[in-house]
Amino acid sequence: MMTVLSNPPVFAACAALLGLCVGSFLNVVIHRLPKIMERQWKAECAELTGQEPAPPERYNLVVPRSACPACGHRISALENIPVLSWLVLRGRCAGCKAPISRRYPAVELLTGALSGYIAWHFGFGMAAAGALFFTWSMIALTFIDLDTFFLPDSITLPLLWLGLLFNINATYVSLSSAVIGAAAGYLTLWSVYWAFKWATGKEGMGYGDFKLLAAIGAWLGWTMLPLTILLSSLVGAVIGIGLIVFAGRGRSVPIPFGPYLAIAGMIALLHGPALTRAYLGPL
Ligand SMILES: [Zn+2]
Repeated sequence: MMTVLSNPPVFAACAALLGLCVGSFLNVVIHRLPKIMERQWKAECAELTGQEPAPPERYNLVVPRSACPACGHRISALENIPVLSWLVLRGRCAGCKAPISRRYPAVELLTGALSGYIAWHFGFGMAAAGALFFTWSMIALTFIDLDTFFLPDSITLPLLWLGLLFNINATYVSLSSAVIGAAAGYLTLWSVYWAFKWATGKEGMGYGDFKLLAAIGAWLGWTMLPLTILLSSLVGAVIGIGLIVFAGRGRSVPIPFGPYLAIAGMIALLHGPALTRAYLGPL
């Protein structure tokens, strides 16, 4: 098995297939995690105000089975094959023909393609395993932030610890660079947040963004932080201009910062060292 997987094209193909299935699970996480958190908050509020809490109904990432929101049709295993099922059903529910969002197959395709690319880029080993997990987390965070303007602690904090654990044996950077990266990542955006708030009275980002950059610092080390921040501004500018020009979005429509950080983190993970050499080369 190991020798088969050490063949780069085979490993990339396996990772892409795995990525399609993980993408299907990420769709569930993106859809349900914010709802699970909302239920927890409501239960806590009810407890604090001494109200009778709502009867607990099991709702987590596994239970209940996925169903069509329009007609309640339970989605069978056969209707849950990544991308293929959506194509065969022509993007409609098998029960009531209500349209199924294009985002589901898009997230699956994106996760599959990125997973294959990462496997190809790193080759079989620990670095690829960690990079896959890092990227899957970034995809989930991107879409949850777009939907809810929120980056859940239940993803950002474990991601931070996992980055430190992966770097105990210097998988990406030395452990000291990872620890400083985590602290500096948090402090950088925390300072920007307070400076911006002090200067304008507005809040440009949230604590979830600090935790996300801390996690990125834990994986990639403090030396990648300037590049990550630079890339996130570039990605933000490109997407912002694109939305105004092509989608007619007003300048005042708020866009969360998390997706830019997540995209920048993925670029830095894959091409950070090469990009740093390129722009520091002339010096
Ligand atoms: Zn339906």
